[in-house]
Amino acid sequence: MGRQLLKVAVIGAGVSGLLTARELQKEGQQIVVYEKSNQIGGLWVYDPEVETDPLGLDPNRRIVHSSIYDSLRTNLPTQLMEFTDYSFTIEKNGKYLCFPDYKEVLKFLNDFARDFGLDDLIQFNTEVVSVKQKNGMWVVESKTNGDDQFKKEEHFDMVVVCNGHNTQPKLVNAPGIKKWPGKQIHSHNYRVPEPYKDQVVVVIGHGPSGFDIAFDIAKVAKEVHVSSRCPQVEVRKLETYKNVWQHPKVPTR
Ligand SMILES: Cc1cc2nc3c(=O)[nH]c(=O)nc-3n(C[C@H](O)[C@H](O)[C@H](O)COP(=O)(O)OP(=O)(O)OC[C@H]3O[C@@H](n4cnc5c(N)ncnc54)[C@H](O)[C@@H]3O)c2cc1C
Repeated sequence: MGRQLLKVAVIGAGVSGLLTARELQKEGQQIVVYEKSNQIGGLWVYDPEVETDPLGLDPNRRIVHSSIYDSLRTNLPTQLMEFTDYSFTIEKNGKYLCFPDYKEVLKFLNDFARDFGLDDLIQFNTEVVSVKQKNGMWVVESKTNGDDQFKKEEHFDMVVVCNGHNTQPKLVNAPGIKKWPGKQIHSHNYRVPEPYKDQVVVVIGHGPSGFDIAFDIAKVAKEVHVSSRCPQVEVRKLETYKNVWQHPKVPTR
């Protein structure tokens, strides 16, 4: 007896959605990929615009999906980021590029989608607004081009949610931070260093984004102070920078 083919909805055409679609396609399943923007790539599509509320507290703010800043290079080498059967070889001036920039990652994803014919499976400008179960099927409700008047329903055997998880900022709850008079932003809304020219800037968090952004801002700022969660960190100036200091953890509630 033949295997039953499934109708599957994939929400999002970023890295996860594209790979999911390709794996389901290999099995011959019937797939619809919903993508709310007009192109594939998700996080890797740089958007120079930032949100209307730089801390992401206002529920009515204009949402920008990507958190990519202009200087971003990958923090993993291409050998780890590439797919098992689709390699990510980038050469510039005859040299193998291990940590490419976001434009090169986006090109890799576009090439991948083109080579596996994934574009034809994607409904662009189509945002999934609800997913419900009814009579053993999944009912996916979507709207196209932000049109709230006309919502479409489709029925599926399975739904794979690949909508990304970096768009909603996670904030630090430090005593006094709400009363602090300076400008505050979450890294989701950081793009370029120029607005920080001659400023004294505190960067809370020394993960890959924290350090990338601190060093980017240090090119133009007066002073940059990076707070780390590691218990053994002491206040000290970083030797290779004339204006960057590291600090221990900012106390939180
Ligand atoms: C600053 C930063 C740097 C990073 N650097 C690296 C790195 O160097 N290497 C690495 O491997 N990873 C890195 N990551 C991790 C990154 O999150 C993953 O690489 C990857 O992009 C996540 O892919 P995704 O498909 O899960 O989500 P996303 O890329 O966010 O894609 C989600 C897609 O879903 C769509 N969508 C969302 N909601 C809906 C809806 N309701 N209906 C329809 N479509 C919807 C969005 O428009 C988007 O296209 C980084 C993350 C950040 C924030």
